[in-house]
Order: sequence, then structure tokens, then C-alpha cells
Amino acid sequence: MGTKGREIVAMDLEELIKTLNKAYADEWLAYYQYWIGAKVAVGMMRESIVQELEQHANEELEHAEKLANRIIQLGGTPLITPEDWLRESNCGYDAPANSDTGVLLDQNIKGEQCAIAIYKQLVDMVSGKDDLTHHLALEILEDEVEHEEDLEALREDMKVLKK
Ligand code: FE
Ligand code: FE
Ligand code: MG
Repeated sequence: MGTKGREIVAMDLEELIKTLNKAYADEWLAYYQYWIGAKVAVGMMRESIVQELEQHANEELEHAEKLANRIIQLGGTPLITPEDWLRESNCGYDAPANSDTGVLLDQNIKGEQCAIAIYKQLVDMVSGKDDLTHHLALEILEDEVEHEEDLEALREDMKVLKK
């Protein structure tokens, strides 16, 4: 982004870039948690759950891409090593040590709930200060709300089937 593009951002750029990098770290960890979860999943409703996990993995990767592009526009550098992802992440990483589909759903629901809280904070933080990041954060928040709902719906179906 050029000089003027940065000038219209009415906040501390370094702080903004740091916040965006933390979200970027979350997205890579969420991507991998979904991706590997889809590989190892076993148990009830496996096919439909794997499909959903794979779709979400792809969408988390798109979020990472959008965040990286915005960080670069703002004059920053996206985190360049996986060690940084773990250190900077807000929501952390939940390894699918238990590959049961119900456990995987619960882990990822927890992850989405953390993501929703983080993007809500970001939306509020940049509101009226950085319109483009605001737009980006809203777009991602919309996806995370959908992700939570998709996973909770699958969890409900599973409970009905278990009866
Ligand atoms: Fe995401
Ligand atoms: Fe998500
Ligand atoms: Mg979905």
C-alpha cells in the first residue's frame, strides 16, 4: 500500500500489525487443526464431518491469506516461522490426540468460539479508524460465526443419532 493508503489509517500501525499477526497465527493453527483432524477422524458421521472439517480448513487458509495481504499493505511482515504461530496465537492449538468425531467437533467448536471473540475485538478496535481492516475483520467474523454454527449443528445431529 502506498503512503496515502497508510495515512488514512487513524491508529498506531505497529500495534495494528501486531494484532493482525496474532490473528494470522491463529488462522494457520486453525487450518492445520482442521486439516489433520479431517485426516485422522474416526467414528460416528465420519463422512459428513470430514467434509465439513476440510471445508473449514480451506476457509481458515483463505483468512490467513487475507490477513497476510493486509499486513503487507500496512508495511508489516507476516510471521515467517511456525514457532511464531504458537507464541503469538490467541487461541492456541488443540491437537486431535483423540480422533473420535465427537471430540474433534468439540475441540473445533471451542476454537471457533475463541476466533469469534478475537474478531469481535478486532472489529471494535478498528471501527472508525481503519475501514479496510474493519471490512476484512467483519468478513472473517461472518465466516467464523458460520463455522461455529455448522459444527454445533453436526454435534446436535450426533446427539439425536445416539439416542
Ligand atoms: Fe478463520
Ligand atoms: Fe473458523
Ligand atoms: Mg462450513
